Amino acid sequence: MGIETHATTFAPPAPRADGRINLIGLDRTELAETLAGLGEPAFRARQLFGWMYKRGATDFQAMSDMAKGLRAKLADGFALDRLQVVRQQDSFDGTKKWLARMEDGQEIESVHIPEEDRGTLCVSSQVGCTLTCKFCHTGTQRLVRNLEASEIVSQVMLARDILEDWGREGDDRRLTNIVMMGMGEPLYNFENVKRALKLVMDPEGIALSRRRITLSTAGVVPMMKRCGEELGVNLAVSLHAVTDELRDQIVPINKKYPVKELLDACREYPGVNNARRITFEYVMLKDVNDTPADARQLVRILKGIPAKMNLIPFNPWPGAPFECSTPEAIERFADILMEAGYASPIRTPRGSDILAACGQLKSDSVRQRASQRAAAAAAAVVH
Ligand code: SAH
Repeated sequence: MGIETHATTFAPPAPRADGRINLIGLDRTELAETLAGLGEPAFRARQLFGWMYKRGATDFQAMSDMAKGLRAKLADGFALDRLQVVRQQDSFDGTKKWLARMEDGQEIESVHIPEEDRGTLCVSSQVGCTLTCKFCHTGTQRLVRNLEASEIVSQVMLARDILEDWGREGDDRRLTNIVMMGMGEPLYNFENVKRALKLVMDPEGIALSRRRITLSTAGVVPMMKRCGEELGVNLAVSLHAVTDELRDQIVPINKKYPVKELLDACREYPGVNNARRITFEYVMLKDVNDTPADARQLVRILKGIPAKMNLIPFNPWPGAPFECSTPEAIERFADILMEAGYASPIRTPRGSDILAACGQLKSDSVRQRASQRAAAAAAAVVH
């Protein structure tokens, strides 16, 4: 890999409270510029990049092929800080959820889902979300901000730290796949998501192939092409309804980009073919979108699109205006899809005991804080 060039000039990130600059999230060009500022030659950037993103170093002292003087200089002015883990929760099924705090005190969640042949990290792209999908708990929380590229990469690095995954190769790796399916709409924060995923895919760093990365969108049609062209990752689309009438209500972004435009963008998604299908997510809502007629209509509208189906049993949250479809309704729905040639369309919920399943992120921490506030208010009354 050669050194990439950038059209823009590099503005170094703002220093932290202690005056040091965090290097996590910088790409090789930016590291080269940073090191050039210290009078160091370009090859040092390559070494530093490897220490940071291939070996997961958290300490400059470990960088044994760099001169002691340089290591001290780096430690003086720079940091290799991950996000701070506030809490880890472990599900009975091996799923782990981390609540991580950023420099400004905002918090996000990431989830690791171990399976027999893979370990998937579900990564957040925003604090909160603007989409207000009616069945999603994250959607009831207002958007606070986009995540920086460094905060997105940092979720991956943090998971590899905790899973002791650095240095493991191939089948031995515990984090083999990434889904951009955490909090937020990744295509509303495309530039930062792109920077982060480019770093994650770099073969001299974390080195996850684009085939092991899936980005899920509620249907930001104008950004889908760029996602395919510039990142080439797998695409998942949160469809959830087969008519504009219903989708307008439960996935409000549909009013801007209706079903037909969305499906046209899927047909044209760069690199899509029968070996690389688009995943359609469909949350099963009792008496809302789960009839056999819905299933047949779904088969009809997906005709001609290389597609995989992902039926997600609705994961409830406190106060949710929906219920999960009955197992019979889900099975009937799945049978119709299977007859039409879609294999294993039902997603087993993972980590639901720790509110780590789809649509449940952040809710727990927000609720906990609310209940702490309530307890404090009650205590104030008593005293
Ligand atoms: N904004 C992106 C990324 C979020 S991915 C998107 O919409 O695709 C999270 C996935 O979980 C989406 O498919 C979302 O529709 C689904 N989801 C949200 N709330 C859910 C819930 N309560 N139960 C099951 N799935 C849910």
